[in-house]
Amino acid sequence: MRTTSRYRAAARMIAVIGVVSLAAACAGNGGDGGTTGGGDTAGYPDQNITFVVPFSAGGPTDTVTRMIAEPMAAKLGAKIVVQNVEGAGGTVGAGEVARAEPDGYTVLMHHIGMSTAPALYQNLGYQPLESFETVGLVTEVPMTVVARKDFAPATLQDLVTHVKANADKVTLANAGIGAASHLCGLLFQTAAGVKLQEVPYEGTGPALTDLVGGQVDFMCDQTTNTSGQISAGEVKAYAVTTPERVKSLPDLPTTAEAGLPGLEVSVWHGLYVPKGTPQDAVQKLSEALKTALADQKVVDQMAKLGTAPVPAESATPEAHRTKLQEQLGTWAKVIADAGIKAS
Ligand code: ASP
Repeated sequence: MRTTSRYRAAARMIAVIGVVSLAAACAGNGGDGGTTGGGDTAGYPDQNITFVVPFSAGGPTDTVTRMIAEPMAAKLGAKIVVQNVEGAGGTVGAGEVARAEPDGYTVLMHHIGMSTAPALYQNLGYQPLESFETVGLVTEVPMTVVARKDFAPATLQDLVTHVKANADKVTLANAGIGAASHLCGLLFQTAAGVKLQEVPYEGTGPALTDLVGGQVDFMCDQTTNTSGQISAGEVKAYAVTTPERVKSLPDLPTTAEAGLPGLEVSVWHGLYVPKGTPQDAVQKLSEALKTALADQKVVDQMAKLGTAPVPAESATPEAHRTKLQEQLGTWAKVIADAGIKAS
């Protein structure tokens, strides 16, 4: 059995490929908006926009970002460069964006982890509601419980029995403390009544690579990145963590159907810019987001991966802020009750 630190080292090595750029379509006009919220944004955008993904390339957050980047770039008439700034469950990349120039040219794609980090990390260096302007929600993604394909348990119930009997041996991968997979893993352990050895990576990309390679036993992650491996038979899938089955994975039972109703979670994503970004730029980004989410290619790609764009009324700064506020409260309680701290 490998040690946790060895897994971490492997994960870091894989994550070195983390900075990837996307040449997106450049079309349309450069915008003719006025100036509100401070700062002259007439002509915004007139240079490249960087979309920061706080997890490594090849994971769900990265996948969703790349899906919407091209249609957003086309609508905005600017090139969007996707940059992976991974580490510490998404808090490194989020911190970088919080400290960036509030000019509309640095945008963060984050997920549920934005609402869990304050309860987990003592020295976060940013505050979700105070350090960012919300731009709009993007999608809400179901999670799946998956294992290396030769892992013995056949069903979710078998998995629970197996991990309880082998708690000192079984390894549970995640994408870092505060990552969605970490939260899902915690919910699994609570629902199953077991404490396992967790193996943190810097994103789902490297974690899933090791799961397929058989170096870790099981994990819980978004359908956006497990669907391919499930369909190809590269991993063993036990259940989906939503109340309803996922259309693209019709044979997969829900956790409730499979006997673990306490394990229910899905992963919402949203776009952020640093606090103080001119409202005109925020609105243009939000409009471009709405356009991207209505794009049939995006709808089809998401459906194939078990998810869907949020409705247009949720791709707004207001709806996003309301969701963030509500989720901060929810997760603060879950995390306090579980007694978890990352630092
Ligand atoms: N799915 C990861 C998580 O567990 C993050 C990622 O790689 O996108 O939060």
